[in-house]
Amino acid sequence: METINYDIITIGGGLGGAALAKVMAESGARMLVLESEPQFKDRVRGEVMVSWGVAEAQELGIYEIMKSAGGREIELEERVAGQSGEANKPAHRHLSSTTIPGLPKLTFYHPEMQEAVLQAASNAGATVHRGVRVRGLESDGGPKIIATVDGAEQEFTARLIVGADGRSSGTRKWGGFEVLKHQAKTFCAGILFDGMDSPDDSSQNYRAFDNGLTALLFPQGKRRVRAYLCYPQAWGMRLSGSNDLRRFVDWCIDAGAPAEYYEDVTPVGTLASFDSSLTWVEHPYRDNIALIGDAAGATDPIWGQGVSLTLRDARVLRDQLLGHKDWDKAGHAYAEEHDKYFTVCKTVQIWFEQLLVETGPEADARRELALPLWREDATRRVDTFSSGPDHSIDESVRQRFFGEE
Ligand SMILES: Cc1cc2nc3c(=O)[nH]c(=O)nc-3n(C[C@H](O)[C@H](O)[C@H](O)COP(=O)(O)OP(=O)(O)OC[C@H]3O[C@@H](n4cnc5c(N)ncnc54)[C@H](O)[C@@H]3O)c2cc1C
Repeated sequence: METINYDIITIGGGLGGAALAKVMAESGARMLVLESEPQFKDRVRGEVMVSWGVAEAQELGIYEIMKSAGGREIELEERVAGQSGEANKPAHRHLSSTTIPGLPKLTFYHPEMQEAVLQAASNAGATVHRGVRVRGLESDGGPKIIATVDGAEQEFTARLIVGADGRSSGTRKWGGFEVLKHQAKTFCAGILFDGMDSPDDSSQNYRAFDNGLTALLFPQGKRRVRAYLCYPQAWGMRLSGSNDLRRFVDWCIDAGAPAEYYEDVTPVGTLASFDSSLTWVEHPYRDNIALIGDAAGATDPIWGQGVSLTLRDARVLRDQLLGHKDWDKAGHAYAEEHDKYFTVCKTVQIWFEQLLVETGPEADARRELALPLWREDATRRVDTFSSGPDHSIDESVRQRFFGEE
C-alpha cells in the first residue's frame, strides 16, 4: 500500500476543515482534506454568522469568497420577547454601529458556503479527496489514516491530524478525548422556506417566556428564509419530516412570530431537529491530533455561535502553527486558547438559557429582577453572542447580568 505524507490532514472538509486547509496551504503547508460527502447537501446547519464571526472570516481571507457564493450582509436585528398572546414591543438593533467588531451578520445557504470554502482550499493548493469516509486512526509511531480513495486503499501520515468532523466526531473518539456535556432542555428544529413574507433586511427573533418557545428567521434573499424553532424537550417530540411541518409552524406562531409570514411558504429541504446540548472537549489537542469546530465544542444552535467559533478555531490554530516551529507546542497553545474562549461562550450561553429560555416560577422571578434593569442599561446584557467571547465572565459580570448585585 502506498504511504503519502502531508504536513496536515483534516478529517472533514466542512467550514472548519476547509478554512484551515485554505489558510495553511497559502502558508506553504502540504495539506490534505478528507471529506466524506461527494457533494454537500442540506443537513440543517448554521446559516447565520454573527458579527464577530464575520471578523474571523475576514481574518482568514474567506469573507469575500462567502459573499461571492451568495452570503448576504444583514445589518438589522429585531427581537420580540414576552408572554405569548400579548402585543410585545419589538427591540431593534443596528449591528455595525452597536457591536464591538462594528460589522453586520452574514446569512447564507450552508452547503453553498461549504462548497465555496472547500474550493478555495483546493485553489490554494490543498489536496481534497471527496467521498472518502475516514473510519479510524492508527497511532503506531505517529497518527496514520488508512482510507479508500478512488477504489484503492491508501495510507496517509502527517505531522498533525485535525479532527474537523463535526458534532459526532470520530476523530475525538479515536484520539481518546473525553467528551463533556451540558444537557439542554430544548431541541432546535430547522427548515428552509421559499415564499416567506417576512422582512428581507433583518433577522427576526421571537421568544415566549411562558411556553419556552423561540422562533428565528434569517432571510437569504428572494423570499427564501431559514426558519429555526427552539422548543422544550419535555414535550417528548422530535419534529422531523413533512408530517411535522404544521406543528413546526404552529409553534413558531406560539413563540410570537406573525402567522401571515408562514401563509404561503413552500418547504425546501427537510425539517430536522437536534438536541441543543453543549458538548465539548477540555484541551482539544493531544499527541499530534487537534480538534476544531463542532468536534472541539458545539454550542446550542439557537445562540448562533457555531460557525463563528469554528472559524476562530481555524484562525487560532493557524496562528499558533505559524508561530511555533514545534507543532506540539503549537497544538497545546491552541488548546489553551480554545479552553478560554469556549468557556466564555458556554458560560454566557447557560446564563441566557436560565434567564430567557427556562419556564416556571423561578425563571419568571429571575426575569422580573433582571429585565427591567436591562431596559435601563443595555450593557448588562453581556454581548458575547454578537461581539465575541473576549469578555470577562467574573462574578460581578454575572451579578449585573441577573441584576443580583
Ligand atoms: C440546527 C442547527 C442550527 C445551527 N444554526 C447555526 C447558526 O445559525 N449559526 C451558527 O453560527 N451556527 C449554527 N449551527 C452550528 C454550525 O452549523 C456548526 O457549528 C458548524 O457548521 C460547524 O462546522 P464544522 O466544520 O466544525 O462541522 P460540520 O459542518 O459538521 O462539518 C464536518 C464535516 O466533516 C465531514 N465528516 C464527518 N465525519 C467524517 C469522516 N469520518 N471522514 C470524512 N469526513 C467526515 C462531514 O461530512 C462534514 O462535511 C447550527 C447547528 C445546527 C445543528
